[in-house]
This record gives sequence, structure tokens and C-alpha cells, in this order.
Amino acid sequence: MFAPVHSFRQLPATFFSDVMPTAVASPSFIAFNQPLAEQLALPTQYWQTDQGLALYSGLQLPDWTKPLAAAYTGHQFGSLAPRLGDGRAILLTELTDITGKIFDLQLKGAGPTPYSRRGDGRAALGPVLREYLVSEAMHALGVPTTRALAAVMTGEPVYRQRQLPGAIITRVADSFLRIGSFQYAAMYANHDELQALLDFAINRHYPECADAENPALAFLAAVQQRQAKLIAKWMSLGFIHGVMNTDNMAISGETIDYGPCAFMDKYRADTVFSSIDTGGRYAYQQQPQIGQWNLARLAESLLPLIAEDETQAVAMATEVLNGFGPSYYQHWRELFGAKVGLRQTTNDDQSLIQALLQLLQHAEIDFTIFFRKLAYASTDIYAQKGPHGLFADAESWLTWAEQWHQRLAKEDAECDEQSTQHQNRVDQMLAVNPAFIPRNHQIEQIIEEAIERNDFTLFEKFRQDLTTPYQDNEFWMAAPAPSTALYQTFCGT
Ligand code: AMP
Ligand code: MG
Repeated sequence: MFAPVHSFRQLPATFFSDVMPTAVASPSFIAFNQPLAEQLALPTQYWQTDQGLALYSGLQLPDWTKPLAAAYTGHQFGSLAPRLGDGRAILLTELTDITGKIFDLQLKGAGPTPYSRRGDGRAALGPVLREYLVSEAMHALGVPTTRALAAVMTGEPVYRQRQLPGAIITRVADSFLRIGSFQYAAMYANHDELQALLDFAINRHYPECADAENPALAFLAAVQQRQAKLIAKWMSLGFIHGVMNTDNMAISGETIDYGPCAFMDKYRADTVFSSIDTGGRYAYQQQPQIGQWNLARLAESLLPLIAEDETQAVAMATEVLNGFGPSYYQHWRELFGAKVGLRQTTNDDQSLIQALLQLLQHAEIDFTIFFRKLAYASTDIYAQKGPHGLFADAESWLTWAEQWHQRLAKEDAECDEQSTQHQNRVDQMLAVNPAFIPRNHQIEQIIEEAIERNDFTLFEKFRQDLTTPYQDNEFWMAAPAPSTALYQTFCGT
């Protein structure tokens, strides 16, 4: 049932400001996500209609919205930015979906808020299209993420390095609470207000922590579990978030704030795409460490709620934080184990998988294409559809593949019905190794056609196709030619 709620507003006033979207000239729809609207039990009058357009452009809001902008702070590239907040995002309401779960509904790019600092509160078309497609693709790939409900053009220009069409995206999240929300509370709020924020987050995301002996500590451990799993998922798909600042890491364990994010083409552990990440802080291989660093900032913010005595609180939090590595590696091993066709993994398999990744890096092999093809090599190393032909010098691949086949044979020997195992393994591998991901050069082409020619055909084609990433799709599967490969992405601002 459609049931807007406004629980964030029950928090102390220090955590948000009332704000209204700023009217735009002549909005028009780019895309509307009907399956998501159905899941949210959104009345059809707010689908792709005039009333819907008025809502998603912020032009005229229904009375069931109570718009606000949330306050937060955060570490950006390692330095504290003491006052951030929703500078161009406006929380319209919370909605219960058809299963009874609560979601946040937010406009991004609907005008300035008290937290805009020098920003215009607007979003350009390119980043809106990117966020729409990449977040929906992540969802289809099975990664926890915010969703895209609608994208509209504002009919007004925005000014970045040049004039660009303005756009607004309507996003849906388990919630937009960030590690930075807790850092803000620790810096500016009193003890009771910090407690209120924790209670809110526990109630919304981790109700089981309410009954724990030490709810704040249990909460830290629970957030850590989800972050470790999320980052392992990113790694298993070659996803690089690009701006893992503490204000861009969600308490819910979802991927949020898609900026200069991108998927790797060729496997390289030190890949960086973001033009502003000059030091490579948020490179592919750095992501787990940064995740843990961010969780330490969350832990610091929670100290007063963990124990009265600070030394004791630090010791307790540190013990929890030490669990990040084991938790992350367990998820990593399970995910990569499945990618190479193993149903169960042991510690030894870690070195088999690491050896493979080194091999891919050395031979400059496309990450997604390799793992897709690997499924077919699980029965025959030389299989026509296998990855054999990707290697200029096949020797190192064959050496690895023989070790791999020995490992698979060992697993089969531990299983009873060997004859059916092989086919199952191919299918199982195809079900976890996507045929295609949103490749950077393709997303850039989609954006360019929209901006330069006002042509959304390719955008629409990808929007339709992205729902089935585990089915072969000749159109989107190809790796970029060296001339079209893109090595840099720019922030969504
Ligand atoms: P981001 O790195 O995009 O997550 O943004 C960092 C901070 O800058 C957040 O507080 C944003 O709300 C704010 N911000 C980014 N772009 C704009 C903009 N165009 N106008 C106002 N605030 C912005
Ligand atoms: Mg952000």
C-alpha cells in the first residue's frame, strides 16, 4: 500500500533543514522506472504523467512530501570537510514498498539547499544519465545500490567547464544515511542527539542490534559486515567507486553517490579512473583498505555510545574493526571462488585466484570477457568459446588452467554425481560472471549522443538491456578498441 512516512523528521532539528526545490523552466521526461514504481506502490498518477513530471522536476510537490536536506560532514580524500550535507539533494519523503520495507525518495539536482556552499544545487545531464544506468545495472548485477526512479531534463542550462543541459534524477535508497552523518553528529550534536541518530539507524537498518548487550558496538559490527560484503562485490565485478569519501559510504551497505565511478576493462589492480583522484587513493585494489579506514571514522563517532570510558571504548571498537579483514576476505574468496566455478573454497584457493589475477594483469586481459569465457573452459581448457584465444602467449594461461582443472577435479571427486556436475558448473559460472557491464566508453557514447544530438536511443537501449546482464548480448559485450578506451572520468558535479 502507498504509505508515505516522515520518520527522519522525528530526529533532532540539527540533522536537517526544511527546503523546497527551485522551479525549473520546462521539464521533460528522460526515463521512468515503472517496475520500481510498482514495487513502491506509487499511485499511477505519479508515473510518467504531468503530475509525475511536476514531482520529479520539483515544480509542484504533492502534499504527501515534506522536503528536507540532511546535514552531514565527511573526510574527502582523507581530509575532514567539516560541513557538507545535501547540497543538491532533497529528501521528499520515505515510502513503504509492497513488502513493508521503508525507502527514501530523493531528488538530486533540484536546486540549492542550506548545504550548497558555493554549488548551484543542480546536476548536468551526463552525470544523471550515468547514475541512472550504472545504479540500475548494479542492481541487476546483484549489488546493493540506490535505484533510479526517474530522470528528467530541466529545460535549463547548467554551467560546468561549459554550458550543459540540466537534469534531475529521482533516487531511491534504503536510506541516505552516511558514515558522514555520524561524523556530523559526533562533531556538532550532543550525546542524546547522537543517541537518537543511532537509534534511528538501528531501527531502520539493523533492528537486531537493538537487543544487543552493547547496541552501538553491535551496530558498528553490522555496518562493517555489510560494507565488507559490498566492497567484495565491487571487486568481483571490477567496479571502482572513485570517491569513497566517508560522506559517500552508506550506513545501509548500499552503493551510493555515483560520481566518476567506472568498471575496469583490462584487469589492472591499480586502475584509477577519476580525474580528481590524482594520488590513486581510491584505486581498484585500495577499496577494501579504504572501506576499513572509513569504518574507523564511524567507530570514532560512536565512541561515546560504546563506553563512557574512552580508552575502553577505543579498545572495544578496535576489536570490532580488526574483524574487517577476515570478513572481507571471506566474501572475496566466496565470490571469486564462484567466478572460477568452485562451490566451496578454502584458504588455499586464495593463492590460485591471486595467481589468475596476476596472469590477467600481466597479459592485459579484459576482466569481464575473461571470466565469462572461463565458464566454457571448465570442461575443456582449449574450448572454442573459452579464453584460450585471448592470450598472445598461452603458456602461462595453460599452466594456470591445469592447476585450476586439478582443483575442479578434486571438488568433483568430493561430489557424488560427477556426470551432471560439468554442465552445472558451466551454468553456475555463467550465472555469476556477467556477459556485460556498463563499460565506460559505452556510457560516454550514450552521454555524448544525448548531449550533442539530443538522441536518447542508445540510452534507452542500454536501459532496457541492462536488466539481463547474465545473458549474452553481442551489442554490449565488446571490449573497447584501444582508440575508444577511456581512462578518465569526471566528477558528477
Ligand atoms: P559528492 O562528492 O558529489 O558526493 O559531493 C560532495 C558534497 O558537495 C556534497 O555535500 C554535495 O551535496 C555537494 N555538492 C556537489 N555538487 C554540488 C552542486 N552542484 N551544488 C551544491 N552542492 C554540491
Ligand atoms: Mg556525496
